[in-house]
Amino acid sequence: MTGDASSPAGSAAARDAVASRPLADVETVYLDLDGCVWFGDQLADGASELVEALRASGRRVGFLTNTSNAEPQQVVAKLRRLGVSATVDDVIMPIEALAVHPYLRARPRVWFLGPPELRRAVADLTPIAAKPEEAELLVLGRDPAMTYADLADALQVLMRGARLLALNVDPRLPVEGGRMLPGTGAIAAALTYASGVVPEVVGKPAPVFFETALRRFGASAERAVIVGDTLDADIAGGLAVGMRTVLVGSASPSSRDPAPVPHHRVSALADVGGLFGLRQEAGRTD
Ligand SMILES: [Mg+2]
Repeated sequence: MTGDASSPAGSAAARDAVASRPLADVETVYLDLDGCVWFGDQLADGASELVEALRASGRRVGFLTNTSNAEPQQVVAKLRRLGVSATVDDVIMPIEALAVHPYLRARPRVWFLGPPELRRAVADLTPIAAKPEEAELLVLGRDPAMTYADLADALQVLMRGARLLALNVDPRLPVEGGRMLPGTGAIAAALTYASGVVPEVVGKPAPVFFETALRRFGASAERAVIVGDTLDADIAGGLAVGMRTVLVGSASPSSRDPAPVPHHRVSALADVGGLFGLRQEAGRTD
């Protein structure tokens, strides 16, 4: 950085420099995955270069994802396959926050609606009920093989007074070519419509999930940023714990009133490095 902060002209130069790289003081960067780092099996342009440039500048990069996957290894394997280096320590996902969620403290018998590998992970935390009428809590993830009969069983659990714990309430899952799949939130909404039971969320935007991520890296919210594509999960969650926030792309409208307002907006992930004063090929410019 050039300029002498003690002279009026220098102060202006210093202010301009800060304005042009407003995240220069941020030490920890959490990147959303679906719709931000990747779209289905397609990596976002510049994602790998951004991650490398952030790391080369001494910053810690975490992947804060609402995925219904059971194992961080699955997320790491996909990142690597798409060209982004990562280890399991870099990935923070809802199954981790589920393990410490207050609803599971008394080890209730749960009814589980979600993918089989996640069922096994949930079974490691708390007993899975054999029948809907034995369940005290419904845990919900996204299962592409879900049937109407599965929804009907889940509804029986809720009609008996059980609470609903959703790994996320994302309305949609962005995949390749601009396509969207119904998200866990869409399934939760169907069950809420049928039962009147409103879900509690494990992943983003739950503050406990963001706090889990900060604790993992020993990071302070003031020096951390969340970069993501959704106002209601990424931006609302980051704002709630006092992180800086960057919205990538043209987000769908918020369902909140007032809508969360991100600190920064960029049209594509490749533009994020500029907020840190980074050139993505060459690391920090200062
Ligand atoms: Mg996303």
